Amino acid sequence: MGLCFSKKDPRPEPNNGYSSNQRPRPYESSKPSPPPPPTQQQAYQQSNQAQTGSRYAPQSQPKPTPKPQPLFQPDTILGKPYSDVRSLYTLGKELGRGQFGVTYLCTENSTGLAYACKSISKRKLHNKNDREDIRREIQIMQHLTGQANIVEFKGAYEDKQSVNLVMELCAGGELFDRIIAKGHYTEKAAAGICRAIVNVVNICHFMGVMHRDLKPENFLLATKDEAAMLKTTDFGLSVFIEDGKVYRDIVGSAYYVAPEVLRRSYGKEIDIWSAGVIIYILLSGVPPFWAETEKGIFDAILQGDIDFESSPWPSISDSAKDLIRKMLTQDPKGRITASQVLEHPWIKEGGASDKPIDSAVLSRMKQFRAMNKLKKMALKVIAENLSEEEIKGLKQMFTNMDTDKSGTITYEELKSGLARLGSKLSEAEVKQLMEAADVDGNGSIDYIEFITATMHRHRLERDEHLFKAFQYFDKDNSGFITRDELEMAMKEHGLGDDATIKDIISEVDSDNDGRINYEEFCAMMRSGGQQQMKLK
Ligand code: ADP
Ligand code: MG
Repeated sequence: MGLCFSKKDPRPEPNNGYSSNQRPRPYESSKPSPPPPPTQQQAYQQSNQAQTGSRYAPQSQPKPTPKPQPLFQPDTILGKPYSDVRSLYTLGKELGRGQFGVTYLCTENSTGLAYACKSISKRKLHNKNDREDIRREIQIMQHLTGQANIVEFKGAYEDKQSVNLVMELCAGGELFDRIIAKGHYTEKAAAGICRAIVNVVNICHFMGVMHRDLKPENFLLATKDEAAMLKTTDFGLSVFIEDGKVYRDIVGSAYYVAPEVLRRSYGKEIDIWSAGVIIYILLSGVPPFWAETEKGIFDAILQGDIDFESSPWPSISDSAKDLIRKMLTQDPKGRITASQVLEHPWIKEGGASDKPIDSAVLSRMKQFRAMNKLKKMALKVIAENLSEEEIKGLKQMFTNMDTDKSGTITYEELKSGLARLGSKLSEAEVKQLMEAADVDGNGSIDYIEFITATMHRHRLERDEHLFKAFQYFDKDNSGFITRDELEMAMKEHGLGDDATIKDIISEVDSDNDGRINYEEFCAMMRSGGQQQMKLK
């Protein structure tokens, strides 16, 4: 693969002038993961009334001073005058959504060319850290644009309601959807995809960026073409690598997170781990570290045992397994690097076999995908039901729980912390929570246990939200989500074709009656792994 590094200065540019250089503070910010509410659409309509007021730097006025003057809205995120993305582009249908933003198809008015516009609602940015994160995402996209396998960045526009990032359109959709739609593939094809993924890691690291959120959803195909290039689009959790710095923020998505992230001491090697997880899924259809709950997933990751015995592994080449083992090595110092992966025989042109991979792998991958989609929709419904207050409460909790800043939380701290935050949990429930969280039984919760605990608490108190989400789908209040209801909801959200709906029902419907009851719905929602974590 001809990598082209010549376009860019490979030196990392830490903080590009936006610095506030904050050290991550333990427990400072935690976001409930679900994506933003649809009321954003209304926000767009409002913001159509152009932001051309005299409060912003007048266009005509010459600015002789070299230093930027604080003429702008003091509140801007991009540090430049507002500009309405709609004056240059026409926004079209929704392409996808993630934690902070909704991505739309858009057309440049002057050229008629199609792009993608990721629109981040400023209402979702609660504090300085969130705003810093958006700035960093833009900087990193700007820094990496032009490289192979990385989406081309076009421009950033901020108005009163939102920050809009316009970038190359990846018309081919998400990676897994493509593999599934194709219906068959080989080790050789998987090796090709792996090469592209590790290429991204290699480029990021070479350019001084740690990605921190490598997962299948963040890989898109540039075009609908069979031979389309794989591109990564989402740098929302990426950071510039600072020499010698030990990173501690817990970020990523459960299935893909490296053990040293959970131990809160890591560096760029985490990206190789995540890529290893993706490749394991590409070859087997299931994640290597799997459990019903996040805690279970974390335990499996920390344990680090990799199953190469179950089907289809016996029929997969030793070379592929060798590479995965090297990528999923517990000790980051002993882990293979990106450039070494690209030299591995399985990855090198011609190294992998043409033998088709068992079709069971595809159907498992399909289930894994379908589940993600329904869960994402349900999480969205829940997000819409979470009040600003609840979100604030959760943040408070993270910041305040460890009152003596000892790095561990005792039962008393947990109890008083929860009470102070207005938790409705009873004494018995707090005990239960403590017991569930305190895995090693030493009477206090450490970092890892704490993450899990907060997720538990989240869940305990969110049953009502779960029910609301269920009711949202169960339109006729029959106590079941039927095929038609699911279809209606998915169409409403611009998701899913017939095959996906069928897959979802067959996956979630454990009693095989062709519909989803509340119990089945809850079981699905509680199964771990989908939600993005962000804990600084
Ligand atoms: P988030 O940070 O909120 O996860 P992403 O950048 O990952 O946002 O975008 C969310 C989804 O939007 C993606 O999973 C993908 O389906 C779609 N998407 C994002 N960027 C593009 C693009 N350039 N072209 C086409 N679809 C895109
Ligand atoms: Mg994403």
